[in-house]
Amino acid sequence: MTKGNINVSVENIFPLIKKFLYSDHEIFLRELISNATDATLKLKHLTNIGEAKVDYGNPKIEVKIDKENKKLHIIDQGLGMTAEEVEKYINQVAFSGAEEFLEKYKDSAKDSGIIGHFGLGFYSAFMVAEKVEIISKSFKDEPAVHWICDGSPEFTLEETTAKTDRGTEIVLHIAEDSLEFLEENKIRELLTKYNKFMPVPIKFGTRTETLPLPEGAAEDAVAETVEVDNIVNNPTPAWTKSPSELKDEDYKAFYHELYPMQFEEPLFNIHLNVDYPFNLTGVLYFPKLANNLNIEKDKIQLYQNQVFVTDEVKGIVPDFLMLLRGVIDSPDIPLNVSRSYLQADGAVKKISSYITKKVADKMVSLINENREDYDKKWNDIKIVIEYGMISEDKFFEKSDKFALYPTTDGNYFLWNELEEKIKPSQTDKDGNLVILYATNADEQHSYIQSAEDKGYKVLLLDSPIVPHLIQKLETSKEKISFVRVDADHINNLIKKDEPAISKLNETEKESLKKNVEESINDKKFTVQLEDLDSNDAPFTITQPEFMRRMKDMQATGGGGMFGMGGFPEMYNLVVNSNSEFATKILANENAEEKNSQIKHALDLAKLSQNLLKGKELTDFIQRSYKQLEK
Ligand code: ADP
Ligand code: MG
Repeated sequence: MTKGNINVSVENIFPLIKKFLYSDHEIFLRELISNATDATLKLKHLTNIGEAKVDYGNPKIEVKIDKENKKLHIIDQGLGMTAEEVEKYINQVAFSGAEEFLEKYKDSAKDSGIIGHFGLGFYSAFMVAEKVEIISKSFKDEPAVHWICDGSPEFTLEETTAKTDRGTEIVLHIAEDSLEFLEENKIRELLTKYNKFMPVPIKFGTRTETLPLPEGAAEDAVAETVEVDNIVNNPTPAWTKSPSELKDEDYKAFYHELYPMQFEEPLFNIHLNVDYPFNLTGVLYFPKLANNLNIEKDKIQLYQNQVFVTDEVKGIVPDFLMLLRGVIDSPDIPLNVSRSYLQADGAVKKISSYITKKVADKMVSLINENREDYDKKWNDIKIVIEYGMISEDKFFEKSDKFALYPTTDGNYFLWNELEEKIKPSQTDKDGNLVILYATNADEQHSYIQSAEDKGYKVLLLDSPIVPHLIQKLETSKEKISFVRVDADHINNLIKKDEPAISKLNETEKESLKKNVEESINDKKFTVQLEDLDSNDAPFTITQPEFMRRMKDMQATGGGGMFGMGGFPEMYNLVVNSNSEFATKILANENAEEKNSQIKHALDLAKLSQNLLKGKELTDFIQRSYKQLEK
């Protein structure tokens, strides 16, 4: 028997490991199962290349709870270790990671949630165990070994005859403060969280299975039941297969395997597969999002060689894609990682831009494959695309190929199609394209109606980030301006070929304007007389585009607009001097009646802009009933 000290200069390293890694104790199981998996896959490789002359068979990893003796066993059928290898890989090498860790963080014990990017690996077992045993038999023709360590740097290592089959058994003597790890439910939960898609089958207990009745069995025959291994993982999840092997149903089935509580079907998926300049596989799904920005649920999961790492993918996946679901697996993503480390990592940055590119390519192929179907999906995916357009320049540059601009009459245009449609009729005095848009089909109904009546196209851009999108489009494209339908009167926006005809002469207009200004007596409104069509509304309230957009951007955040505040409320009151109403007002000799007519008309204009509220609205309704009684 060998006795010795683990190669470490710090006496009390184990309590420190515990303390440092406090918040993440549970990862010990992931680490040990990863080691068991590595050992199994290494053996597979050695048999494949003819270096290990043993029968590989169908190895599995077993996790076993021995509640009575407070032990947890992790057993594999991998390549095992000889005494020399235990000495080398466990006693000497493995610990250098822990030492480095302590060296670096000994002054920052406050930050107890930290995990270094060097694998604590095997030694994470001491986060939950007061004593750990390794019983291992190498595939090489050497005796089995038994290593015991009780959490101090001292260990014993001796030969044993107790193990005859190949592989390694790790025995954890669970510490008093970690007894939860002897609960079946807890272990099952951890296996589901970290090991659901690991490449070697993992057995956890047994279950009974009913055998099918043999053909021609008697009607009253009773089916036989047998005990079988309960395998908790799927060793070949969809992302490890090639796209050509998978049908649409397979992708959908995998989606539900990933998110068992998700009942809606995803809209489509993107299969990621790259091996240069880094390795990455995965499947991303576009869920139905509409205008829902809730990303807390069912997030993208990050794996390293089929081991779950985290579902906190901020910094790895571009922000706009955090609304998606699915899996990303890359061996280049370190297993034990701190947030800040990940974000600074070069490989991770490349991953992010690769994914962005893949998503853009997918959009292009979807729209080319089936335009009608893409149009239909647009409202469910637009929030992701629009968010991508405002936040990732590379994505924006490609977006002309797949970003759609829906109109209030139910058409979906690509940018160039839109330009073609509206250029002939919608330009301003300076020759800029005027793009009319609405953000709410109900609230802006009267304005949309009046624009459509005049033959103009109006876009319906109703996602919450639209003010930012518009700003982005205006600064990137030449000679365009976006104007919301209620921003100004259409007649002032779009160049007309025929000059307007006025019913009233200048003096009459002057006095009409004075009448209106005196009656409404409100600095918020700038009264503006216009020679409009006699059928156009007598009064229309508009809000200058710039002012309103600044307010909207402030409300949705971003763009450095937070906390700027204090935009004054300002409106234009456009009076149609060609309307019947204008003529009537002017002709009315009764000053009191004239005043109340103007006020009533203003209320109607406010009503159509959703500005009539509270007491004003109540008064208006009462007044209108009185009118009916007359
Ligand atoms: P890492 O897995 O990053 O190498 P670990 O501390 O987890 O670090 O493990 C240290 C080493 O111990 C492994 O590289 C491997 O050589 C050996 N080892 C650990 N567990 C097993 C096992 N179940 N079977 C064979 N070798 C193992
Ligand atoms: Mg390991």
